[in-house]
Amino acid sequence: MARRKKVYEGHVKTLFEGPEPGTLVQYFKDDATAFNNTKHGIITGKGVLNNRISEHIMSRLNDIGVPTHFVRRLNMREQLIKAVEIIPIEIVVRNVAAGSISTRLGIAEGTPLPRSILEYRYKSDELGNPMVSEEHITAFGWACTHDLDDMMSLALRVNDFLCGLFFGIGIRLVDFKLQFGRLYTADDEMQIVIADEISPDNCRLWDMTTGERMDKDRFRRDMGKVEEAYQEVARRFGILPESGRPSDYKGPRVMQ
Ligand code: C5P
Repeated sequence: MARRKKVYEGHVKTLFEGPEPGTLVQYFKDDATAFNNTKHGIITGKGVLNNRISEHIMSRLNDIGVPTHFVRRLNMREQLIKAVEIIPIEIVVRNVAAGSISTRLGIAEGTPLPRSILEYRYKSDELGNPMVSEEHITAFGWACTHDLDDMMSLALRVNDFLCGLFFGIGIRLVDFKLQFGRLYTADDEMQIVIADEISPDNCRLWDMTTGERMDKDRFRRDMGKVEEAYQEVARRFGILPESGRPSDYKGPRVMQ
């Protein structure tokens, strides 16, 4: 493999300089983290599966005109993306109570919400990604009201589309997290696009019939069969790697 410059190393993904200006290569590792990175593990084959699942979802979003940073998948663990300026605000979209909203507000997990609820989180590992309001976001200049309008309408559009996409494969989309970036064009126009990844790492996915969890909660809550659950999501989408198990694709040692 040709030498290339590492631009950023996260807990579960690494970014390298892309082959042409304005692009990056996003590499998916097998690492898993939870509870503000206090829990760490390796889920063999997860990087391969998330690369495929995120490719599938981002491509479908691109198809319907929802702008994303995704360009194309390069190989088992890498995809080409557009370089964007990451906005330090994440949006969590919830359809059914689970996880932190259940703990925080005492709503039983599995309770359908009266309508989809959006929450803003400030992207900061040190602070544990705290929930913030529009007031905080605009006062501290993390995003302006116009950015927030765009992010909210994108989040709701993605939610509607993904609810249907997952419904089609017998999965309930309970909640998920989105990241956003500012994409600048040559003539300095700015467009807000979906960034990062959309995969069982940042979605809660419950089997429609059995209620079985098919996402990172299996790792967070030590439920076992994590790789199998991610694999089942990929299988239902019809996108399992052509041959062999994802865990057979270990990737270059230096990058593991
Ligand atoms: O923990 P909580 O219930 O707030 O998570 C809501 C959704 O956001 C879940 O789908 C979870 O996977 C995702 N999330 C994430 N990254 C975080 C925190 C939550 O992707 N740092």
